[in-house]
Amino acid sequence: MIRVGINGYGTIGKRVADAIREQPDMEVHGVGKRSPDYVAVGADEEGYPVYAVDEDRADGFREIGIDLAGSVDDLVAESDIIVDATPSGIGAENRPLYERHGTPALFQGGEDATVAEVSFNARANYDEAEDAEYARVVSCNTTGLSRFLAPLHENYGVEKARVTLVRRGGDPDQTGRGPINDTVPDPVSIPSHHGPDVQTVFPELDIDTIGLKVPTTMMHVHSVNVTLEERPDDVGEVTDLYRAEDRILTIPDYAGIDGAGTLKDLAQDAGRPRGDIWENCLWEESLTLQGKDLYCMQAIHQEADVVPENVDAIRALEGELSGPESRALTNETLGIDLGYLHDRTDLTAVRRTPDESPADD
Ligand code: NAD
Repeated sequence: MIRVGINGYGTIGKRVADAIREQPDMEVHGVGKRSPDYVAVGADEEGYPVYAVDEDRADGFREIGIDLAGSVDDLVAESDIIVDATPSGIGAENRPLYERHGTPALFQGGEDATVAEVSFNARANYDEAEDAEYARVVSCNTTGLSRFLAPLHENYGVEKARVTLVRRGGDPDQTGRGPINDTVPDPVSIPSHHGPDVQTVFPELDIDTIGLKVPTTMMHVHSVNVTLEERPDDVGEVTDLYRAEDRILTIPDYAGIDGAGTLKDLAQDAGRPRGDIWENCLWEESLTLQGKDLYCMQAIHQEADVVPENVDAIRALEGELSGPESRALTNETLGIDLGYLHDRTDLTAVRRTPDESPADD
């Protein structure tokens, strides 16, 4: 059993803890928590031992009935590996603590790539993390783009990728973030930081990205154009390629899923914890081939897509399983399979009538 300590129990940390609990080969040794708040009580209710980040706040935990298991220093000493899910920049500050105890660690995408020797995506470069002591699980957007680009890169070659990222303004619990009523180029300079981040996974890839922020907490949406080196026979071939990918949910035309709201509804109907969608959500109808240019749109659930990647990264660092074995185990234990959407009908025969929306906007 791999004993995993989670340092930083927020949006990502609590989801990673719950995912680890489902694995047959790992367990949550404990969680490092800073504030004695509702999330701390939630961790305690789940039965996760709570370790205090700030020892001078220990009394606050005791006052709400949480018996602390120790300090974060204890957590790091007792764990086989740490998942650092602290806010951007704190992971780098924590690295010396992990080094001092000789405890391997995963960092998250908010850290600079220099925080670890490898930037990790389970589909694209699992093997590169096998000899590493520290790895950075790339951000939600970079995870989504890496999963999307890997099959194209392997099958046709990518001459150039251009992506516009329409990003959610904040997560549902980030009450102070915005915009509230605006559409904001963010960053206004081009390319945005996302392209260089994808290059930490695909160093040779030619990619430009543009970022905006919009007033939603639900998901990011990517508008993608990839110029391929070799032309696929037809768009159906590309659709089949994506249907075969385990962490890409291709949305069939018949489904009536028209945006992030219906995707969340689907996830809740499917009984997904917190309505999480671990897969990229790629609209089949948007896949369009013009010469060597492929176009499409995909949605990325920012709170969720990196969760299975963290589970796989633990196995990569611990040298437990091969990439395909780990991905298959993670998918099975979490229930990453909404394939029933595709089992209903002969999909090649079902094509929605194109919308006849007036060109008034
Ligand atoms: P979050 O703010 O929801 O959670 C971070 C938690 O760490 C909070 O509970 C905070 O109190 C705690 N914390 C703060 N300082 C700490 C310290 N010194 N030691 C231990 N805990 C501390 O943040 P998040 O959204 O979960 O993001 C964590 C990381 O994951 C960041 O690098 C972020 O960029 C990355 N990430 C976030 C998302 C997302 O959409 N939320 C998606 C992918 C990756």
